[in-house]
Amino acid sequence: MIGIAIAAVGIKPEIVRRCYQSLADARITVPYRVHVQTACEGQFSRSAARNQAILALLPYCDKIICLDVDCLVPPGLVEHAAENIRDGQAVWTLVRRIPAFDGRYRWDEWKATNPWPWGTGAFVGMTTADWLLVGGWDERITTWGSEDDVLALRRKEHRIETLKVTDWPLVHVDHEYRGRNLQHAKENRQIGAAPPPRNYLAGRLPLAKAQHTLFLWPTARCQGACPRCSQRSLMQFAPDYEMTLEEIDALIDAVRQSSYPAFQKVILAGGETLLWSHLAEGLRRLAEAKLGPIQLFTNGLALDRADLAAPYVREFRVSAYTWNGQAVQAFRARYGSKVRVVDSRKHWALPMGPRGEETLPADCVGPGYSVYDWHVYTCCNSPAIPMALGTPIHETPRCRLQPGFIEALLPLRQKMDRYCRACIGNRKVQPWLG
Ligand code: SF4
Ligand code: SF4
Repeated sequence: MIGIAIAAVGIKPEIVRRCYQSLADARITVPYRVHVQTACEGQFSRSAARNQAILALLPYCDKIICLDVDCLVPPGLVEHAAENIRDGQAVWTLVRRIPAFDGRYRWDEWKATNPWPWGTGAFVGMTTADWLLVGGWDERITTWGSEDDVLALRRKEHRIETLKVTDWPLVHVDHEYRGRNLQHAKENRQIGAAPPPRNYLAGRLPLAKAQHTLFLWPTARCQGACPRCSQRSLMQFAPDYEMTLEEIDALIDAVRQSSYPAFQKVILAGGETLLWSHLAEGLRRLAEAKLGPIQLFTNGLALDRADLAAPYVREFRVSAYTWNGQAVQAFRARYGSKVRVVDSRKHWALPMGPRGEETLPADCVGPGYSVYDWHVYTCCNSPAIPMALGTPIHETPRCRLQPGFIEALLPLRQKMDRYCRACIGNRKVQPWLG
């Protein structure tokens, strides 16, 4: 869904209505949602109000356009933007200026006029993930002018291309002076030239506590070959996969930049986690970064490597199968209360569904975010479950490992429903699993 964020703090209602009406009259054919921000929390600035409008749309929209309230939007433009906005590509539409609006849309006439070469912030769209990557509008800027130039600079720094749209007659209706002047514009460009002290979008929404668990998938290697392994599709997809230390550093950096609180747990799943080639150093970095208490899933066979992990691990969760009874006992003997044993029947095969294709509402017992190969996925069983159902990994709901990854995943969670019906984590399907 595409979101349209309109900052309208202190703007006359008839101007907001005019903009809103043009959207309604455009008969937009793609799913969209509009948010008009009429109040600004904290000190008012146009940047802060725009960010707050974006924040209101974040949970629902995977693409967001910031629209100047003084604009009239022609039919087709939002659809054109929706088609062209993608990770790494923003859309910016140039405006035509008109002195006043008499209630009649003259799109053909307006299209024939020259676009105004400035005003890059009148209609700028990015994926939600890219908005989070650039950190939103720069809230250090509190006067009028050059916010859009600074945003363009941030896009450039993050290698986000900008598609300049000139052939749609987006119209800006002239208005009384609201404080823009060349001196402010110059000062604001100087302010924006220095890196922003924080990300203005990430870490500002209340985070779901139950969801606040981080899963890492450090290795595809495993000594077992359990026919009912829920992670088999991912292990087979890239059997040599190993999470790198650079990924660990990027994860730590993303969490810090996002100001996320510590996770309830940081869980190393997999694959057999003790076979991870960066076991000691990776865990050391995670523990030092204090991302949260570390739990490690294991089948217990590589007991000789567990000492490398033990100083950093709060709990070893050892899965008991029919074939590893001795290993489980040995683990218990060595690490005592640090060990929790779970029955391997938890590792059910993918359920087929009692009546075929029906979808059961998900009542997930495995919430969290999982990190695999420079991406973050919406839950602990993704991407394994979607892949087992035939979805290519790049089509699975996910975002890059980047600041704001939790917020970027919010609108993608609803796309998981089709997979939940085939997931052992769905409490509603569990009763009819064998
Ligand atoms: S031991 Fe665990 S990770 Fe390995 S194949 Fe069996 S269920 Fe999968
Ligand atoms: S696929 Fe659905 S039920 Fe399974 S862990 Fe993910 S969100 Fe939960």
